[in-house]
Amino acid sequence: MATTYRRMTSSDRWHFCTNCSSWPAENYVELQYPEYLLKGSLCLECITKRHFGECDPKE
Ligand SMILES: [Zn+2]
Repeated sequence: MATTYRRMTSSDRWHFCTNCSSWPAENYVELQYPEYLLKGSLCLECITKRHFGECDPKE
């Protein structure tokens, strides 16, 4: 199942929660990928939000 990921063009850290404090609003790259296909690393804040059920993913 694909999730929408965004990263800043200047970073290799991917975000997947729209309510992350670092969710890129401009100058970003957006992909819809299964997690295992991503290159780079995932945002720790997004991972924490998902862990606590607080992640608000982009549809
Ligand atoms: Zn994030």
